[in-house]
Amino acid sequence: MPDIIRILVLGGGYGGVEAAKVLAHKIGMRRDIQITLIDKNTDHTLMTELHEVAGGRVDPASVQISFRKIFGARPVTLVTDRIRTIDFEARRAISEAAQYAFDYLVLGVGGEPEYYGIPGIKEHAFTIWSFEDALRIRRHIEDVFRRAAAEKDPAKRSELLTFVVAGAGFTGIELAGELKDQRRVLCRAHHIDEKEVRIIVVEALGAIIPNLPQKLQQKATRYLEKRGVQIMLRSPIVGADQNGVILAGNRSLPARTFVWTCGIQGCEFAANLALTKGKCANRMCRFATTQGTCGVKNCTFSKDRYIEGKRGRLLVNEYMQSVDYPNVYVVGDVAWHLEGKRVNPQIVEAAVQTAETAAHNIIADITNGQMKTFRSRYHGIMVSLGAFSGVAHVMGISLTGILAIGVKHLINVVHLFGTAGVNQVWEYVKHEFLDVKNERSFVGGLASYKVRGYWPLLLRLWLGFMWVVEATNKITQGWLDFSTGTSQTGWMFSKGVIQAGVKIPDATTAASAAASGAAATGAAAVDVTSAASAASGAAAASAAPAVHGPWLDTTKTILDPASGLVTWFRRTVMDGILAYLPYSWFQVMIVFAELLIGLALFGGLFTWWAAVVSIGMCLIFTLSGMFAWNQLWFLFAAILMMGGAGRAFGLDTWVVPFFKRWWNGTRFARKTHFYADEPTK
Ligand SMILES: Cc1cc2nc3c(=O)[nH]c(=O)nc-3n(C[C@H](O)[C@H](O)[C@H](O)COP(=O)(O)OP(=O)(O)OC[C@H]3O[C@@H](n4cnc5c(N)ncnc54)[C@H](O)[C@@H]3O)c2cc1C
Repeated sequence: MPDIIRILVLGGGYGGVEAAKVLAHKIGMRRDIQITLIDKNTDHTLMTELHEVAGGRVDPASVQISFRKIFGARPVTLVTDRIRTIDFEARRAISEAAQYAFDYLVLGVGGEPEYYGIPGIKEHAFTIWSFEDALRIRRHIEDVFRRAAAEKDPAKRSELLTFVVAGAGFTGIELAGELKDQRRVLCRAHHIDEKEVRIIVVEALGAIIPNLPQKLQQKATRYLEKRGVQIMLRSPIVGADQNGVILAGNRSLPARTFVWTCGIQGCEFAANLALTKGKCANRMCRFATTQGTCGVKNCTFSKDRYIEGKRGRLLVNEYMQSVDYPNVYVVGDVAWHLEGKRVNPQIVEAAVQTAETAAHNIIADITNGQMKTFRSRYHGIMVSLGAFSGVAHVMGISLTGILAIGVKHLINVVHLFGTAGVNQVWEYVKHEFLDVKNERSFVGGLASYKVRGYWPLLLRLWLGFMWVVEATNKITQGWLDFSTGTSQTGWMFSKGVIQAGVKIPDATTAASAAASGAAATGAAAVDVTSAASAASGAAAASAAPAVHGPWLDTTKTILDPASGLVTWFRRTVMDGILAYLPYSWFQVMIVFAELLIGLALFGGLFTWWAAVVSIGMCLIFTLSGMFAWNQLWFLFAAILMMGGAGRAFGLDTWVVPFFKRWWNGTRFARKTHFYADEPTK
């Protein structure tokens, strides 16, 4: 073994990221191991969400996560470079500007669209296989709508408003679903009748999304057709030109937008590597080379991919090692592995699982451990039909509608949590629900309307002022006069509990202290008043006709001070923990906390934190059985303040960006993924 073991992960897609993470987690702390991830981009692209960008549903940035964010403080060196070729004998990955030596290589360079040699497709079709592809489609669609609005020639207008999606696999269907939603938005914006817009899915086979059960295929077809998406089955495309799409049988579809989603192959970079490619294994295929089946129904589609070995995926053994070099592992879309009679599908789960196997086996090789063979555990497939519905087949269960789309969101959230922590989950929730435009989420615009920062300004000032008033009242009531100690704070604890630092007075002084304390504290005053009013109420009830009290007496505490919850809280937290704090500290703490919250809110400085502490205090007061209904606005106002209220006419405008920059560079944030935005290191 060399002094330093260099593991190079090439490609930061689903497979590459997973491999690098597993390696970093298990052996990254060893000083003799160096893990490097190289990608031509600075960001990992969430390929499964590209249709949402293309169809204008989400902000483009939402499908990209910087590698810096993903790896944070993990021991992985990140390099942005496009590798041109690999010298496997010399163990070097070579770019135009540099060479990267490796002892182990993980190849996860992904796939690219396959055109099956059909004339005109490559030149005239859009593809959706990268972030740039999705942006190109998005801009083009907006452009054709703009042009159509000004086009008077009906034939040209119809061409501009015809959108052809070739392929009814999950990519094609998800894209058609987005186009259907985008149609409503763009038609409104450009005053075009929705009926003028044609969205056509063209498929050579007899069904859509062939990897779903038939019932779900039918439901998805019905859902889309009902919303004006035309689905043309058994309609092979034989060509394309600048006028549109040419179908078998001399038919054509004049269209300015034609998106090709029909096939995937290993990327050109991988195809040019000196490694053995996968072979089509269908015995019925005239290019068959081994037993089994390639899993593609119409095998003639696969001839270009596998026979010449040029554009193919890279053949691996059951350990995910290239059959040519045992130190080279291949994962994800570019790997070709027959598991029984099925080749690994080009989906995220396969990318992640092949990467786990590869990483495990590299570690095993380094540590003389046991290598493991690849065993797939695919859970199912989820397909969105736009923002509002979907179909899914997960762990043998078929789901449709909101349930299906809900499960898809859930799986995305779980995946993102594993990739970049809670911060990325929050980003996802924002992009998909809270910041989504044109009501394009399954909860519509329910969660996405924005309140401008200046509207809560007066409330922020008032809330701040009221906290200052609370603190000032406590001071004038003698809270900072420590000679009266327990009488001020005793109301937060159970009867008989003596706080640390309190001197136990003799019986006479205790009685008078209790009396003066009762008069001084708000809680005692409430008790006295309510006792008095209860007494007078009882008297009145017997003498006069029944008078109905208020439906809700808002001066009453939210939780009954004698209730089980309050008793438990007092005993556990107040008596059990806080009573051990010297009473003088406790009093100073409460008074200053209230004062600081008030001043912070008033000035709009660290408003988020002030609001959080404010909420915490409100909860403690509630659980102590002291918070009245008419004080509840403190809590709700504080929640509102968390939404950036300090950045409108507040000091947070300048302080928060500065603070974020500092925080995002800390090791803690980089280790835990608790960034506020992007890491700065
Ligand atoms: C629109 C769309 C929707 C999809 N929907 C789903 C879905 O719903 N469910 C599902 O399971 N799958 C879906 N897929 C498929 C899924 O995205 C792929 O299976 C998955 O991305 C494969 O991961 P990977 O790591 O092999 O490659 P990729 O994710 O493609 O990553 C490859 C990486 O390699 C880098 N790279 C390539 N060449 C070089 C080079 N020469 N030098 C440096 N870096 C390089 C690229 O920049 C890229 O970051 C969808 C795909 C698309 C396009």
